Amino acid sequence: MLPSRTAIAPSPAGEFELIRRHFTRPVRRAALGVGDDCALLAPRPGMQLAVSTDLLVEGRHFLSTVAPRRLGHKALAVNLSDLAACGAQPLAFTLALSLPRADDTFVGALAEGLFALAQAHGIELVGGDTTAGPLTLCITVFGEVPAGGALLRSGARPGDALWVSGTLGDARLALEVFRGAVSLPGEDFDAVRQALELPQPRVDLGLALRGIATAAIDLSDGLLGDLGHVLERSGVGAELEFDALPRSAVLAGRPRALQQHCLLAGGDDYELLFTAPAQAEAQVLQAARQAAVAVHRVGRITAGGGLQVRDAAGQLLDLRGLASYDHFAA
Ligand code: ADP
Ligand code: MG
Repeated sequence: MLPSRTAIAPSPAGEFELIRRHFTRPVRRAALGVGDDCALLAPRPGMQLAVSTDLLVEGRHFLSTVAPRRLGHKALAVNLSDLAACGAQPLAFTLALSLPRADDTFVGALAEGLFALAQAHGIELVGGDTTAGPLTLCITVFGEVPAGGALLRSGARPGDALWVSGTLGDARLALEVFRGAVSLPGEDFDAVRQALELPQPRVDLGLALRGIATAAIDLSDGLLGDLGHVLERSGVGAELEFDALPRSAVLAGRPRALQQHCLLAGGDDYELLFTAPAQAEAQVLQAARQAAVAVHRVGRITAGGGLQVRDAAGQLLDLRGLASYDHFAA
């Protein structure tokens, strides 16, 4: 590290004390956890390791107003969502943390949110890195999936039905309220804020969809863009029914243009978008029941023709201006 004149770096004692106090927990599943130069994981025979990383930067991926407990939850949730999209069982994660100050209260609350979600999914923290710098969290998750059994973006086939879990658009609606573009009654704001700050990764659904779904992706950057990735990787097109998209009562009560914006280009939904053969509907519904998550059929895969979105009357929607989120274009 470069020497710095500004005394913002925690002393080495601060760094190690933070790690010891907040991030060192005994591991049960991993062969070795925090404390050595590497962690050691032991995936079961016949399984592939599923690995994914997500980086969260203050002001870019979260607002400075978010409670640290919720931030800890979300940082892990967005990573677990990637494992869910692959149908992988979560095993362990690492945390790289950049902090402006060695703030014990902040880190304690962050760790609480992180470990509460980790515990809910039986996953353990096995290592990481801690440094002084702008508030940034980078988590890498490790999961396992039977060799050849992962759900991929590339498996959608013409005729497949298109499904989404949960409801879409609330996280974006909350963001618009934070930005001052929309105002909501307090109770409604609390509800959509929860969608933004406490997303629930659909891990159980991803697992239940193994062998049923032909393709899957988690919705992080907006439905149109994320569906576009599936279409591109699968070499197919799709017809999406706008009115079939599941939305909360709060969003359903907003003007149609705002609904379109939030549902189609919202981002931060962390629901699963997946495809399955049309005749597998009963199996999909059974998987959703098993995972205790609602799923809705929202369209179908076509042989070509790109992506078309229609309303209930069959009219094509104008999708111009509804681009997916791009960090370098924003
Ligand atoms: P190294 O110098 O080998 O990178 P560190 O001194 O950075 O090791 O870290 C010591 C131990 O603490 C390592 O096992 C590392 O994985 C762990 N660790 C550091 N920061 C974190 C963190 N934020 N969360 C979990 N483990 C951490
Ligand atoms: Mg280190």
